[in-house]
Amino acid sequence: RKIVIAGATGFIGQPLCRLLSNSGYEVIALSRYPDKHPELAKDKIRLVHWNGTDTWPTEALLSEDTAVINLAGENIASHKWTKTQKVRILHSRLQASKAIVEAIQDSHQKPAALIQASATGYYGHRPGEEVDEFAGPGNTFLSSVCVEWEDTMLPLADSPTRCAAARFGPVLSEHGGMLEKMLPAFKYWFGNYPAPGSQHVSWIHLEDTVKAVKLILETPQLSGPVNVTAPNPANAKQLARLISTAMRRPLPMPIPGFVLKLAMGEMAKELLLVDQNVLPRKLTEAGFEFKYPDLPAAIQDLIGKA
Ligand code: NDP
Repeated sequence: RKIVIAGATGFIGQPLCRLLSNSGYEVIALSRYPDKHPELAKDKIRLVHWNGTDTWPTEALLSEDTAVINLAGENIASHKWTKTQKVRILHSRLQASKAIVEAIQDSHQKPAALIQASATGYYGHRPGEEVDEFAGPGNTFLSSVCVEWEDTMLPLADSPTRCAAARFGPVLSEHGGMLEKMLPAFKYWFGNYPAPGSQHVSWIHLEDTVKAVKLILETPQLSGPVNVTAPNPANAKQLARLISTAMRRPLPMPIPGFVLKLAMGEMAKELLLVDQNVLPRKLTEAGFEFKYPDLPAAIQDLIGKA
């Protein structure tokens, strides 16, 4: 069976391509810069150029035994959230997704599934609340991005293509994402966490992340939003303490929210100070077996390798 992946060259995309290719799928990775990723080509993954906005490449022809996974979008943590950057974050996602949905609408044989990235950012700031897939959206910038992003799949509601939105929580790995950004401060004895530290972080280990996407792909009953988070969320202080202990460093210091807001603006509020206690109800009900359900073992595994 063929899997076409947009945004395949990124932090989640690369290990996902390898997992699917090693599991016997034919993987076509769409990229704006296919020549920059010879490492994927080495793993029998076919790289095809797609500019992320318009005409679908014919090499990625859709058929009934194809599934599409869409992870494409401007990275949300790579630049400060100026007005221009916020437009880029939203539009890169909407354009890629709309182009994919149109390609599916135009195809004679509809692909079996479209799995698109979304984020736990959908739920906004929810202190004192546990949320699963049945909770409504929040009212932050990221919630509005996720709502619009997920809505781009609505035109396929009555089509034979099953649609799912993988609402990823912060994905932990030593090679990218949130943890990689945190590690240098701990390394140089300035481990810290955003005060008050009690805010929930609905993390997930990268290895479980890609296995969960494979489960969504292979489980026809899974559609609509699916939270891709560990079953035991932690809080920001616990996360920082575990990193300190694993790196044999002193206890981390709290950084006041106003300092973070001064330095990072709105990004700090939505990425560091936000409280999201998200539960992966659908994955759990589908029988997904997390290799890392608890944060201590996940951090031990990742820091041991860093
Ligand atoms: P990355 O930023 O690592 O990769 C995203 C990919 O999208 C890139 O490899 C790039 O592919 C493509 N891309 C980047 N900018 C643009 C653009 N302006 N227009 C079109 N395509 C673009 O993302 P992740 O792998 O970390 O995440 C995948 C998806 O999951 C993202 O949409 C992200 O928002 C979401 N997510 C991730 C989380 C995480 O912790 N990592 C948490 C929650 C949600 P190329 O350059 O080859 O075209």
